[in-house]
Amino acid sequence: MAPNRYAAHVFMNRIDGLDVCSQPQLSISERPTGDLRWYCVIKGSCNCGAVTYTADVEATDVYVCHCSICRRFSGAQGMAVTVVENQSFRWTSDTDSIAVWDKPGHDWQANFCSVCGFAVPGRNDEARMFIPVGSIIEGGDRLTVVHHIYVDSKASWDTWDDDGQQHPEAFGSGEPGREL
Ligand SMILES: [Zn+2]
Ligand SMILES: [Zn+2]
Repeated sequence: MAPNRYAAHVFMNRIDGLDVCSQPQLSISERPTGDLRWYCVIKGSCNCGAVTYTADVEATDVYVCHCSICRRFSGAQGMAVTVVENQSFRWTSDTDSIAVWDKPGHDWQANFCSVCGFAVPGRNDEARMFIPVGSIIEGGDRLTVVHHIYVDSKASWDTWDDDGQQHPEAFGSGEPGREL
């Protein structure tokens, strides 16, 4: 039986002096099979393990949403996610346990495990998936908060001291030439 190519995760390792995550981005079909230098893999799971996934990308950028809807969903200060291209993402469990709830009147969707309630990845847009960073169990070593959105809606007790760019409302709000 051929080894599972995704089992050869080498995130953050150095092979022959090369940083595996500094390799040029190639589509999966373009990557040389068996060359470990081309693999940067993250793995994730919900709390109960019914929903698991992997993505062969380097995950670095974290977006934190401080809006009241994300706050109610998480029960904390909001949601922190990273975003990956569809082609790099795949489920490693079946998807029967994934529940989706669209908030009426809003462009907002909850994706969660119907067994344990944990936030799981979902569709970000046509080309990309979002991944709740709290669900990442391997390969998240380089994650850094780069953007805070809906900071005008943050809870009174919500504070942070990182250097992430702050957006009053949606991503890009408050910048010249961008609509709120
Ligand atoms: Zn679960
Ligand atoms: Zn939000």
